[in-house]
Amino acid sequence: MKYEQPELPYAVDALEPAISALTVEYHYGKHEKAYIDNLNKLIQGSEFEDMDLEEVIKHSSGALFNNASQAWNHIFYFFTFNPEGKREPEGKLRKAIDDTFGSFEDFKKAFVDAGVGLFGSGWVWLSCDEDGKLFITQGPNAGTPLTTGLQPLLVFDVWEHAYYLDYQNRRADALNKLWDIVDWKIVEERYEN
Ligand code: MN
Repeated sequence: MKYEQPELPYAVDALEPAISALTVEYHYGKHEKAYIDNLNKLIQGSEFEDMDLEEVIKHSSGALFNNASQAWNHIFYFFTFNPEGKREPEGKLRKAIDDTFGSFEDFKKAFVDAGVGLFGSGWVWLSCDEDGKLFITQGPNAGTPLTTGLQPLLVFDVWEHAYYLDYQNRRADALNKLWDIVDWKIVEERYEN
C-alpha cells in the first residue's frame, strides 16, 4: 500500500495573510510531500507496509517514525484550517477549555506561549485523554501525543519552515495569526469523537 498525499480542501492562497500561498506551496507541496515519499520508500517490503499510518507511528522508531509522524502531523495541521470556519469553540469543548485554562483567551495565550517556548523545531498540541481532560504539550521534531495515548485535537507547527518565508524570526506573530484560520468546528468534532 502507498500513502497518498490528500489534496487540500482550499486554494493555496486561501489562508492569506495568515499563511501565504508560497508557504503553502513549499510547506505542504514540498516538505509534506517529501515526508510521504520517504515514508513510502521506508515501508516498502517491511512489516509496516499495510499498516494504518497511526499504527506505524505507534510501533516505529528512527527514520521511519520521523517520516511517518511528520506525514501525519502535517495533514492534521493543514486540515484544521478554513478561512470561512468557526472562529471560537462552543459546547462541550468550550466548557472544557474554560474549565481547564480559565477562558478561551487564556487558552490561546498558553498555547502560543508553549509554541514560542519550544527550543528548536517541533509542534505544540492540544490533546485530550479518554476522560476528555485537556492538555497542552510540546513535541520536539516529529513528536506526537499519539505515542503517549492522548488524542490530538489541534496542532501548530513551530518548525521554522512553517513560518520563515512569511514571518522570518517572528514565531509568536506567526502562531498568533493562525487563530484567524483555525476552524473550531473541526476541533470540536475531533473532541466529540
Ligand atoms: Mn512543517
